[in-house]
Amino acid sequence: MKKKVNIGILGSTGSIGTQALQVISDCETIDYSVDFLTANNNFKLLIQQAIKYRPKSVVIANKIHVEEVKKQLKGLDISVYSGVSSLEKVVETETTNVVLTALVGFSGLKPTISAIKCGKKIALANKETLVVAGELIMSLCKKEGVPIIPVDSEHSAIFQCLQGELQEHVGSLILTASGGPFVGKKRGDLKNIHVKDALNHPNWEMGAKITIDSASLMNKGLEVIEAMWLFDINAKNIEVVVHRQSIVHSAVRFIDGSIVAQLGYPDMKLPIHYALSFPQRQPSNLKKFDFLDYPNLSFEEPDYKTFKNLSLAFLAAKKGGSVPCVLNAANEIVVQAFLEERISFLKMSDIIENCMEKINFVKKPDLKSLIDIDQETRFLAKSLTK
Ligand code: MG
Repeated sequence: MKKKVNIGILGSTGSIGTQALQVISDCETIDYSVDFLTANNNFKLLIQQAIKYRPKSVVIANKIHVEEVKKQLKGLDISVYSGVSSLEKVVETETTNVVLTALVGFSGLKPTISAIKCGKKIALANKETLVVAGELIMSLCKKEGVPIIPVDSEHSAIFQCLQGELQEHVGSLILTASGGPFVGKKRGDLKNIHVKDALNHPNWEMGAKITIDSASLMNKGLEVIEAMWLFDINAKNIEVVVHRQSIVHSAVRFIDGSIVAQLGYPDMKLPIHYALSFPQRQPSNLKKFDFLDYPNLSFEEPDYKTFKNLSLAFLAAKKGGSVPCVLNAANEIVVQAFLEERISFLKMSDIIENCMEKINFVKKPDLKSLIDIDQETRFLAKSLTK
């Protein structure tokens, strides 16, 4: 008998959300039902997805579009909700076993907490949730007995390498980084970077925010913090290595000196498929990797001086407490400002650093103080982009 999975997707119209629906359509060995789909603004795609996948409910976060969604889905027995707070409600859908969290940024935090509280398995694609509130989320998962299966390709790789291994046998985690479109460049070369250059990632097709984060290496920085919480490891035992081909997705160095790595083409459908199939492995019809396509794999040291964001993220990981929340909030503001061509590429790290120095430190922030710190940082970062 086929394995049955009832899934809800937070952020179904983004890059991960659409690829997840593709995985669901293509998978012949799991009987998927889609319980809910949510979108922020893209109501047209949400409507198409709802007509195709027939979820029990959909949420359009931006209330402006709710009437149109209701009109288009009339008679299909799909409940339509709007507003950000509905995201926290919809994850409670009784039949749902897995919630894929594919929202962008801080917005993923509250609905993820709600999903954990009602015992849903989490397929985590929203790394910012762990960056901002890693301690809180991981202790909540422990309390509720809820597993988090990473969807981020590096973390999926490490998660796979760690299956059947003991925590005390882990020496370090090795996160690979493609280096983004500006790998090899120096600060002088990055002075007059245009948005379209930064959006042109060599290997991965992703949403705008994460593509800019990849170009600035903030994405790798956020992933260091994400890995620290997911795998309960000190940031000083996380290594970053630039690997331009994005074939080795990441690796674990064990105490005996062995390194175990996970490899594949750069295609997010594989980590999505793995997360949704876990704890089993299910066959997929994804293209089989051929080593002969890549006779030369290269590895090099990251340039921490040029890509200051990576150093800032390691610093935030080391300081802990509220600092990663500040790093994340400031980064969300500067990325938006860069995308709108209001600040330069290099200015992004300067503003983040400034915020990390100025915002008051809280050692063990609860959810309420994280929300306050996030707001305070956004306010400061916005003023610094003017
Ligand atoms: Mg990644």
